[in-house]
Amino acid sequence: MTVQTFNPKHSNVNPSKVGYHHKANHNQNRTIDQSANLQNTALVQIDKPNDGSDDAIKTPKVGFVSLGCPKALVDSERIITELTREGYQVAKDYDGADLVVVNTCGFIESAVQESLDAIGEAITKNGKVIVTGCLGKDAQKIRTMHPAVLAVTGAHAYDEVVKAVTHHVPKPAKSKTYDPKIDLINDAGVKLTPAHYAYLKISEGCNHRCTFCIIPSLRGNLVSRTIDSVMNEAVALKKAGVKELLVISQDTSAYGVDLKYKMAFWQGEPIKTKFFDMCQALARLGIWVRLHYVYPYPHVDNVVQIMADSMKISGGRGGLLPYLDIPFQHASPSVLKAMKRPAMSENTLERLAIWRQICPNIVIRSTFVVGFPGETEEDFEYLLNWLKQARLDRVGCFTYSQIDGATANDLPNPVPESIKQARYERFMALAQQISKEKLQEKVGQTLVVLVDEIDFDENIAICRSYADAPEIDGHVYVDDIDETVKVGQFLTVTIDEASEYDLFASFVA
Ligand code: SF4
Repeated sequence: MTVQTFNPKHSNVNPSKVGYHHKANHNQNRTIDQSANLQNTALVQIDKPNDGSDDAIKTPKVGFVSLGCPKALVDSERIITELTREGYQVAKDYDGADLVVVNTCGFIESAVQESLDAIGEAITKNGKVIVTGCLGKDAQKIRTMHPAVLAVTGAHAYDEVVKAVTHHVPKPAKSKTYDPKIDLINDAGVKLTPAHYAYLKISEGCNHRCTFCIIPSLRGNLVSRTIDSVMNEAVALKKAGVKELLVISQDTSAYGVDLKYKMAFWQGEPIKTKFFDMCQALARLGIWVRLHYVYPYPHVDNVVQIMADSMKISGGRGGLLPYLDIPFQHASPSVLKAMKRPAMSENTLERLAIWRQICPNIVIRSTFVVGFPGETEEDFEYLLNWLKQARLDRVGCFTYSQIDGATANDLPNPVPESIKQARYERFMALAQQISKEKLQEKVGQTLVVLVDEIDFDENIAICRSYADAPEIDGHVYVDDIDETVKVGQFLTVTIDEASEYDLFASFVA
């Protein structure tokens, strides 16, 4: 299953994910246009318990279509966990479902359309449909287009969804021999990601008001989870076999601000609900921890120091990865001001230089928007020059598009589509060149990688290094693996070749 974000400010466009390529096939048929592939639909499937009894056979089944970003995926996981605790099973197709839940995204116009189409498909193919997620805020629009939907809720309305499901498809009677609360679900809940990595959502909502974004109106102001709850989930995931945690939120560097960095106790020690303290505690778990959606504030310097230290200690197999996902979106001061971006007055090139001094192998990923209203050729040139100096490792880009309810819709001087597209192509060509040069520097190096998939026919392991987040970055293709290699295992490899986005390696151990 693949689920990607298509939120321009936080989205992780994947310029590199186009099937896979190994040494036998170095024809990188990727074009920059492919980074416009922003969204995926998934009819979620999870293994169903079956104790062979009549109860198991009669158990009602709920289908689940999950759209949108990793934050929405975590919402889907939570709803499925709750439904499973109530004794429901998850159907693997429309026909086998007693009802279908569609978790929608409403961030940009194409996302809204995809969500409406998914609802329509579920109604046609199943008939009983409950809608949740970001588009649920616009219940009127959904009901006008699809009057047959049974219920509509907004984002992270877990209880309401479960209530609506139980109303339309009654809960099963509990089996005497099988209790899903005990038998099926571990403390980490049901996860929709592969077993070796998981998203860890640390907060919901956002205190910023970027003019192109409607997330605060959909999901409200920042609400952080307390540190003990975050750490308990992280430990449960590790115990369940997870090797990599992907920390997500709308604004990870603001974690705990709303709780005034509330002190809690975890494993008998006092610990603050604070970005730095959380990173320190997560780094000690001994598995990979990757940070997404961080802003370039000076206080992040201390977290970069944790990255440098933990990599030295673990030899690359655990700790806070030297990887930061920072949605810069632009560099021109006037565009950033019009966007009302967090940290817009920071000197970002200086910040990057400081981080690279602290942790020379740090990898920076980011996304950008070109063609924002009022963006002049001069602003765009400023952005290109900035990127030349910043030399970011992983870069995605969107052309600006309006979204219902965003204040940027009222800004003057819209950029014509043809200019937006031309800027997008110029920007991605530069980003691709930088990526190629940076990956070339890795040839000859020894790296630790995590196995995502194995192609037994070709005898190749499809892996990622610390520089590659799942779904959004490149891969490391490892040749000539032996039969002991398993998905979710760490390998040591040497890099033989590099393309624009991927690496090709030989298995060492
Ligand atoms: S308002 Fe918040 S969620 Fe939206 S783009 Fe800005 S920082 Fe991100």
